[in-house]
Amino acid sequence: MASPHIELPSGEQTLLNRKQPAPGLRTPPADQLSPPQSEDESTGAPTVPQPKKKSAFADGDIPDDYVTRTLEREPALPPVEWKNILNEIQWVSFIVLTSTPLLAVYGLFTTHLSWKTFAWSIAYYFFSGLGITAGYHRLWAHRSYNASKPLEYALAIMGTSAVQGSIHWWARGHRAHHRYTDTDLDPYGAHNGLLWSHLGWMIVKPRRKPGVADISDLRKNSVIKFQHKFYIPLILITGFVFPTIVAGLGWGDWRGGFFYAAICRLVFVHHSTFCVNSLAHWLGEASFDNKMTPRDHFITALVTVGEGYHNFHHQFPMDYRNAVKWFQYDPTKWFIIAMKSVGLASNLKKFPDNEVQKGRVAMQLQKLNEQQSELSWPKNYNDLPVISWDDFQEESKNRPLIAISGFIHDVSTFMDEHPGGRHLLAGKIGKDATVAFNGGLYNHSNAAHNLLSMMRVGVIDGGYQLAVDDIKLRHKNRAIEC
Ligand SMILES: [Zn+2]
Ligand SMILES: [Zn+2]
Repeated sequence: MASPHIELPSGEQTLLNRKQPAPGLRTPPADQLSPPQSEDESTGAPTVPQPKKKSAFADGDIPDDYVTRTLEREPALPPVEWKNILNEIQWVSFIVLTSTPLLAVYGLFTTHLSWKTFAWSIAYYFFSGLGITAGYHRLWAHRSYNASKPLEYALAIMGTSAVQGSIHWWARGHRAHHRYTDTDLDPYGAHNGLLWSHLGWMIVKPRRKPGVADISDLRKNSVIKFQHKFYIPLILITGFVFPTIVAGLGWGDWRGGFFYAAICRLVFVHHSTFCVNSLAHWLGEASFDNKMTPRDHFITALVTVGEGYHNFHHQFPMDYRNAVKWFQYDPTKWFIIAMKSVGLASNLKKFPDNEVQKGRVAMQLQKLNEQQSELSWPKNYNDLPVISWDDFQEESKNRPLIAISGFIHDVSTFMDEHPGGRHLLAGKIGKDATVAFNGGLYNHSNAAHNLLSMMRVGVIDGGYQLAVDDIKLRHKNRAIEC
C-alpha cells in the first residue's frame, strides 16, 4: 500500500521530474524506458529507431526482461549519506511527516480531551482510513469492485482527508509495488528494511523511478481528475478544517478538534497506512506463498483497518477481501459489503475458494516437508544387506534379531523397553513375527511401526519367510498329490 505524499497537481514526482539529474545518471525519459533502444554492435552507435505505434497502455510495449534490463541499465541514485542528505530529502513530505507528530505531542500535553472529541477523532480516523483502504487501495489501485459515482466521490473525499497524495499518484505507486514486490522497482520495497518501507522511501527522493504500471483506466476517471485538480484545497478542508469545525461548532471544542480530530488522527492514519508497507511485509505467516515478504497477521490487521492479511492480498490482489475467514478483522471488507447492500457498490470480486485453499494447502505441505526433512527416518531397503533365512537364524544366536514384514530387526536396545514385556520379544528371536506384530498377538500402533523400522539391520532374501515356507509347503503337497 502506498502512503502519505504531498503532491502538487502538476504530475508524478519521480526522478524524471528533477530539473537537473545528478551527474553520471542516464535515466531516460519515461517514454523511452521501453522498449529499449538497440545498438549497432560494430560501432556501438545507436541505430535509428523505427517509428512504432505506441501502445495505449504504459506497460503495453515493455520487453519480457523488463525488470532485469531496467535494473541493469538504469543506475540507481547514489546511497543517501550524511554528506548528501540535504540534497536528497523530499522536503514537503519530510516537513509534513515530522511536523504533524510534533504538533500531536504538543497537543497531547497541552489540550484537554473530552469524550465527544475523543469519539469524533476515532470516527474520523475510520472515515479517513476507509477512504484509503476501501477507496485508494481496493477500488482504484486494484479495481476489486465497482462503486457508484456518489460512493466514488465520498471515498475520494474520505481518502483526501488522510493526506496521502492524490489517488492518481498513490494507485500508480501501489500497482508498481505489487508488480515488482521486493525488487528495486518497488517504490517501497520491503527488502530494503523496515525503516525504509515504513518512512524512508518518502523522506528521501526515490532512488529509482518505480517500475512501469499502467493507470490508463484511472486517467479517464472523472472523480480522480476532480480530486487531482483540487487536491491542495481539498486536503486543507478535509484534513484540517472540517474535523476542527465539527468539534468547534458541535460542542465548542475548537482546540481539541484541531489537535485530536485533525492532527493526532492524521498521524495515526499515516502510520496505519505505513504499517501496510512495513509491518505487513515483516510480521506473521506466509499462509499462501513464502517466495516474497508479504505476511498475514492479526495485529497488522488491527492497526491498518483490516489490511493485515497481506500475504493473501499479494496472492489474490483483485479480491475485495483481505481476510477470508469470518472471524478475521477486516472492517474494509465489511464496509464494502455494506455499500453493496445499500446499492452503492457492485461486482465484488472474489477468487474461487478452491484456488485459495490450494494456496493454503501448498504452504502446509511445504512446511510438512520441511519438518519431515528434519527427522531421522529408517534406512532405505536398498541400503540394507540381503540375508538368507538360514544366516538370519544363525546370527540370531549372537544377538536378538527378529524378522517382521521381510525386514530383520535388531531389538537389543528395545528388549527392556517393550511395553508387553521382555519375554514376548525373547520368544520371537530368530523367528518371523510378522503375524504376531500385525494383530496376531497385538495390532501395533503407527508409533510402534515407526520405532520398529528404525531397528532394521537387513532384508530377508526372498521376502517374508512365512510366505516362503507356505509356498514351499504347497509345492511339496502338490508333488505328493502328483
Ligand atoms: Zn494492494
Ligand atoms: Zn505489499
